Amino acid sequence: MKLSIIPAPYQTEYLNGFTKADAETSFYEDANLPRDGFVIHIDGDIKIGASSQSGLFYANNTLEMIKFQCGQNLPNVHIRDIPKYTYRSFMIDSCRHFFNIRDIKKMIDYCAKMRFNVFHWHLTDDQGWRIQINSYPVLTDTGSVRKGSNFGEEQNDIPYGGFYTQEEIRDIVSYAHKNHMTVVPEIDMPGHTSALLASLPDLVCNKKQVEIKTEAGIFKDIICAGNDDNYDTLYDILDEVCSLFPDEYIHIGGDEAPKEQWKNCPCCQKKMKDENLSNEEELQGYFINRINSYLRSKAKKVITWNESLNGGNLCENITVQMWMDPKKRSKESKNKIINSDFFHMYADYPYEMTPLKKVYEYNTDINDNVIGTDIPIWTEYIPDLEKMEYMCFPRFIAAAQSAWSINKPSYNVFRTELSEIIPFFGFGNAAQKEKWDPVKITRLRKVIVHFGSISKNERIREFFLNKK
Ligand SMILES: [Zn+2]
Repeated sequence: MKLSIIPAPYQTEYLNGFTKADAETSFYEDANLPRDGFVIHIDGDIKIGASSQSGLFYANNTLEMIKFQCGQNLPNVHIRDIPKYTYRSFMIDSCRHFFNIRDIKKMIDYCAKMRFNVFHWHLTDDQGWRIQINSYPVLTDTGSVRKGSNFGEEQNDIPYGGFYTQEEIRDIVSYAHKNHMTVVPEIDMPGHTSALLASLPDLVCNKKQVEIKTEAGIFKDIICAGNDDNYDTLYDILDEVCSLFPDEYIHIGGDEAPKEQWKNCPCCQKKMKDENLSNEEELQGYFINRINSYLRSKAKKVITWNESLNGGNLCENITVQMWMDPKKRSKESKNKIINSDFFHMYADYPYEMTPLKKVYEYNTDINDNVIGTDIPIWTEYIPDLEKMEYMCFPRFIAAAQSAWSINKPSYNVFRTELSEIIPFFGFGNAAQKEKWDPVKITRLRKVIVHFGSISKNERIREFFLNKK
């Protein structure tokens, strides 16, 4: 009998005979295994080896997966497994739509079974500020509620809000840790900040009143990078973020920040002159580097989206999350890379545009700087957990296998094994086989509709049309 194990093991050697599922199970320390790695040896009894608690956790999950498909008689087998990447992440956007603590825990449960070890939590954006900051209650009093929602078919003037209290955040962090996952909060800056700027108008270049956005898009109101007081405000906010999230990384956004306001702001222009910066992209590099220095002083490492590379002056100790054109951009960068190529890995795109096969077969190894991957679910069109599960599963499983498995089997093998094992992950009716890889004509039609009417991002449209 051949086992279906996802993520696929590094080495599997079948031995003769069978062992009862309730046979004696013992554990030993195997110092030769890397962190997260494990050995499962089934031959009369069951022996599990690991060098870390996470390795033990993954071994136990894998043993459960084996029992799930074999029932009472387990084939005798020796499995040795080690991960490809140390950083295996999924991202949830809690801003466009809010997901309560129960929903988040459910996603963590699913993803832990896939051996994701990082939960990237997108907590602030134009459409809502979702994290309680005690020194600035206005961020949630004002910033967490928008006037309505205008996303695709969802068009209404019903106030929409929600935020996580600090107690709830601590609860999620501790829940993630129990599942051997770290939590990376994302506090977006200098762009995607309408909810922040609506709450703290002093941070805007012209100090004008900004509205919390009700629709998707890229908005021109961004944090003034020339005003030194703004950095102190951001440091105060980040102090609380650091105390809530004890793990090593903080994500500070850095994507999609239009530069018109900086071009017209005397304060930003003076800062550029004082710091010898020749354009506004360099000013963004300066801004991100300055926040990075502060966070480094608090023993944190910083992640930013790839746009922060545009100025060419980004500090090399910042990790860059590549969502746009990763192959081209990574050539210019010495920074460590998390690969999130939107064309292959965005789980909010329709299956017609990003079928399971496309996620699975993507080669994430752009170069030696890649430390791992992150599969995001942006939630403009994801109003609830049911839709989220539908969009994520099984595409998250494909991404998990790519992040973990050094010996990744062919797509056909993956698909066959997935069909057998998918009930193990427990997400009920979300994973419907018919939708995984739609036929070409359906795909084409949907893609044209999606990019023709929904996206306002010209660069995405261009990029996509060029590829076709
Ligand atoms: Zn300014």
